[in-house]
Amino acid sequence: MELDHRELYRLPWSLPDNTISWLEPTAACNLACLGCYRTNDPKGHKSLEDIGWELDLFTRLRTTDGISVAGGDPLTHPGIADIVAMIAERGIKPILNTNGLALERDLLVELKRAGLWGLTLHIDSKQRRPHWRDKNEVEHNELRLQYAEMIASVGDLICSFNQTVYGDTLPYVPEVVAWGQKHIDIVHVIVFIAFRAGLVGGDFDYFVGGEKVDFSPLPYAADDAGRIDIKSTDILETIRERFPDFTPCAYLNGTQRPDSFKWLLTGRLGTKDKIYGYVGAKFMELAQTSHHLKHGRYLAYSSPKVHRRGRAMMLLAPLDKGVSRAAGAYLRTLATHPVQALGRAHMQSVMIIQPADVLPDGRTDMCDGCPDMTVWQDRLAWSCRLEEPMTYGQFVEIVPKAGEPVTL
Ligand code: SF4
Repeated sequence: MELDHRELYRLPWSLPDNTISWLEPTAACNLACLGCYRTNDPKGHKSLEDIGWELDLFTRLRTTDGISVAGGDPLTHPGIADIVAMIAERGIKPILNTNGLALERDLLVELKRAGLWGLTLHIDSKQRRPHWRDKNEVEHNELRLQYAEMIASVGDLICSFNQTVYGDTLPYVPEVVAWGQKHIDIVHVIVFIAFRAGLVGGDFDYFVGGEKVDFSPLPYAADDAGRIDIKSTDILETIRERFPDFTPCAYLNGTQRPDSFKWLLTGRLGTKDKIYGYVGAKFMELAQTSHHLKHGRYLAYSSPKVHRRGRAMMLLAPLDKGVSRAAGAYLRTLATHPVQALGRAHMQSVMIIQPADVLPDGRTDMCDGCPDMTVWQDRLAWSCRLEEPMTYGQFVEIVPKAGEPVTL
């Protein structure tokens, strides 16, 4: 599928100045998702003191608007409300990345009081959830809605969903996008993440400090993992089969390939019944740079109040082609179906993430300007590959097996 990165806005995120950072207060989790990249350690809670030290390291090394509180599952940590408060006290937006299993309304109210900005619920059909094992991706929309309604009932919290996309769940993606539109008033962000694994016994050997190592103990190592080559453009193409106008506005490239789409962002404006259009590159540039001018940081997760201002955003039509098209569609609807057009219009983001790709010569194409950097010892490290320095002391070097042909 043809997508020209030069026509999209390159998100301005970098190592020292980024939209978000990634805190892992615990390695404990109450689920065992197929695509998980971390070893579950039920005793893996960090102390509040260590977490405070990591937060200080983030603020010293990196300007950041939000912090994703992940894990493990962060809700398993007994001090989760304190952790949220510690982030908020530093003037940073705390966003919980959770499977939601331990989420109850009372706890959510407590977390909001502590300063929670929003939640990203990881829900997909390969999580082996109790009572949901036999349900497909579309059937999981029922579970997504339960959480979205709980979050909406507490109010003023960002509600985001992410899911890992596998070869056999790729066809369900458009149905989740359609579900997102149906609940555009309470669901602000949807994220699709292509599944990745490191193949053992494949075309590569793995080295640390010149010594060959056994890669198989890592949680993301697999002998046969099914499709690990799904690209963000494959997911986009699948979405477009159902929504032909679906148009991304911004991207993050890979560290090796300037034209790979590691993060691909689409913003749509509309109502539950009708999407008026998709914001363009200039809109996203304006959103990121104006936030940076005003607050000194790149924008992470606008507030729910901003997401509700879809119609006001259309006033930016003279500056952005995508918004201009959306405003045109809105005015046509106003002329033909005025009652429908007078309802509230919303903005919803759909992000597609294509994590680490191993190129034929062993180079790893990571996200350039990785927003999900976490702390390892006294430095920043890719959270998706954290198990490597934890296991071997440093990141693993990937080398094509001797005698294997390398295609560049
Ligand atoms: S490099 Fe890894 S940790 Fe960073 S954004 Fe990409 S997938 Fe996430």
